[in-house]
Amino acid sequence: MSEKGILYLVATPIGNLEDITLRAINVLKQVDIIAAEDTRQTLKLLNHLEIKKPLVSYYEHNKTVKGNYLIEQLLDGKEIALVSDAGTPAISDPGEDLVKLAIKNNINITSIPGPVAAIAGITASGLKCGRFVFEGFLPMNKKVRKDRLNQLKGEVRTMVFYEAPHKLIYTLKDLYETLGDRRIVLARELTKKFEEYLRLSLKEALNYYDEKSPKGEYVLMVEGANEEEIEEERNEKWSSVSLEEHINMYMDEGMTKKEAISKVAADRGLSKRDVYNSCMIK
Ligand code: SAM
Repeated sequence: MSEKGILYLVATPIGNLEDITLRAINVLKQVDIIAAEDTRQTLKLLNHLEIKKPLVSYYEHNKTVKGNYLIEQLLDGKEIALVSDAGTPAISDPGEDLVKLAIKNNINITSIPGPVAAIAGITASGLKCGRFVFEGFLPMNKKVRKDRLNQLKGEVRTMVFYEAPHKLIYTLKDLYETLGDRRIVLARELTKKFEEYLRLSLKEALNYYDEKSPKGEYVLMVEGANEEEIEEERNEKWSSVSLEEHINMYMDEGMTKKEAISKVAADRGLSKRDVYNSCMIK
């Protein structure tokens, strides 16, 4: 049996073709097959780099069939580069599934790093980027979307979202209604001719797009919740309930004492040990 090949995850530009790395070019030249999310887009890049290689399309709606085909090729010893439409494969694209399949088949995988729209966006946003959370695209299913947004209400880290222009206003409205009037940075058409950073509040962003239609690709950075306000809200919410009552409330819902203590600790921003010790003292 031949030795297994390698799967390279090759980051490609998010707009400006000069953002390709030397290593990415070398890998694209060296591999046997290039698997591309959008073959037309990748062909433009390959023509620019004067690289000719067999292209296999691999995208959301053919990922099962083509994924199996690519794994067969890798098991047969072929080297494959996976590239996405733009940026780094597996970040908000089906590359993630191919990676999982390759791991299942004990195939070596290596990442050739390069542009990621989220990183380009947050670094120039001016919002806190020491700790941030990448949320990608918000789900479209109404209930799942609402739950996700509600989960993010208390998120103190800067949140980074991807959005398409035709859904931007809808998303701005949902963010405003759930999170209130936070600061937002809309990073548009990064690395391209019409690159723009709009640094506004969510309300200002909604007003801005009342008069203008969104165009191009967007990364949205939304400031996290204020830690002190969250702490105050938390204290207010539970100030009239004793620890015992709080634990019993969850046990009445069917939790074990251990689970209830854990939930109470999370609700009150305390350690589990503190909650446990306070109950033991009483
Ligand atoms: N894999 C890519 C990456 O590494 O960033 C992201 C792929 S995702 C399918 C496409 C989304 O990324 C777009 O809808 C947009 O939100 C964001 N995006 C991609 N290129 C962008 C650019 N040049 N400027 C702003 N956002 C961009």
